[in-house]
Amino acid sequence: MLITKENNEAIIEWLSSKCGQMRCTCCGESKLSIGEISTLQIGYDLDTTRFHYHQGMPLISIYCVNCGYVMQFSSSVIGIKPKPVPEEQIPEPQKE
Ligand SMILES: [Zn+2]
Repeated sequence: MLITKENNEAIIEWLSSKCGQMRCTCCGESKLSIGEISTLQIGYDLDTTRFHYHQGMPLISIYCVNCGYVMQFSSSVIGIKPKPVPEEQIPEPQKE
């Protein structure tokens, strides 16, 4: 999911208040950019060994413009709520 202008400003404000002057942990670059909201797939069913793609943890990616290192933050902690995925877009579980 792409970040809206309002969300972009909220993310910058949150990062500034919580993380201060952020730098890339790999190369030390101070120029970072906000990517998009993605989801960490945590909906893994141990009994069926299947992922449940409609479950997961929304994450906001911040990447280094120099080396491409990606940092991820919980969007719920930042206060950004992604729009729910419409049911018709949720993939059916794969059959074996
Ligand atoms: Zn870097």
